[in-house]
Amino acid sequence: MTQQQAQLYEGKAKIVYVTDDPTRVIQYFKDDATAFDGKKKDTISGKGVINNRTSCHLFGILEQAGVKTHFVEKLSEREMLCRKLKIIPLEVVTRNVVAGSLSKRSGVAEGVALERPIVEFYYKRDDLGDPMLTEDHIAAFRIATEDEVHTLREAARKINQVLCKHMSERGLDLVDFKLEFGRDATGQILLGDEISPDTCRLWDSKTKEKLDKDRFRRDLGRIEESYQDAADRICGEARQ
Ligand code: UDP
Repeated sequence: MTQQQAQLYEGKAKIVYVTDDPTRVIQYFKDDATAFDGKKKDTISGKGVINNRTSCHLFGILEQAGVKTHFVEKLSEREMLCRKLKIIPLEVVTRNVVAGSLSKRSGVAEGVALERPIVEFYYKRDDLGDPMLTEDHIAAFRIATEDEVHTLREAARKINQVLCKHMSERGLDLVDFKLEFGRDATGQILLGDEISPDTCRLWDSKTKEKLDKDRFRRDLGRIEESYQDAADRICGEARQ
C-alpha cells in the first residue's frame, strides 16, 4: 500500500505528500477556500471531499478518452494517488461562454456564448497576480517550448470536448475551466492538479444558476449545497 509520508508542498486548497515510491505523490484536498489572490479566505465545509471526488471521476473519464493524466487511484475521501510531475507554472484556461475576467477585459456581458472555444495562458505567479501570457512570452521566458505550448493547447481543446459532452448530459453548462499540466521524469506532459467546482464555472443549463466557486467569490450563499449538487451531477448518470 502506498503510504503518505513527508509533506512536499502545501498550496491554498491542497497538500502534496511524497510516498515510498519516488514516482508517486498523494494530493490531499483541504476545505480551505481563497479568492482574489488569497485576499478572501474561508473554509467551505466538505469541499475537499467534493473536489477529490469530482477530480477522480473526471480524470477517469478523460483517461478513457485517451487523455494522459497524473491520476492513479482514489485512496480515500480526501486523498488521490498521482504520478509525480514537475508542474509547468501556467494556468491553462479554456472558455466556452464569456464570464469572469474575460467579461471585465472585453466588456462583453457574462453569459454570451463564444463561437468557438478560447484557450488562454496565465503565469502562475501569485506575487504578480497571475498575468496573462502570450505564446511568445512563454517561449521567450523558457516556461515551455513552442512544441509544448502546442501540446497544451491541443490537450485543452480535447479535454474541453470530453468535459462539455459529459456536463451537458447532466444538465450543466461548462462555461470555463482552468487546467494545470506537468512533466513526468521522461519529459512527457500529463494533465495534473484537479478538476472541480473550484476550477470550473458550471451553470445549470436551464436556470443558469451558478454551481461553482463564484458562489464563494461573489457571496451568493448556498455554497456547500451548490458544490454538492455539482458533484452529484458530475459523478452521476447522464440525464439525457
Ligand atoms: N480559475 C482557477 N484558478 C485561478 C484563476 C481562475 O481555477 O487562479 C478558473 C476559474 O474558476 C474559472 C476560469 O479559471 O473557471 C477562468 O477564470 P477567470 O480568468 O475568469 O478569472 P476569475 O474571474 O475567476 O478571477
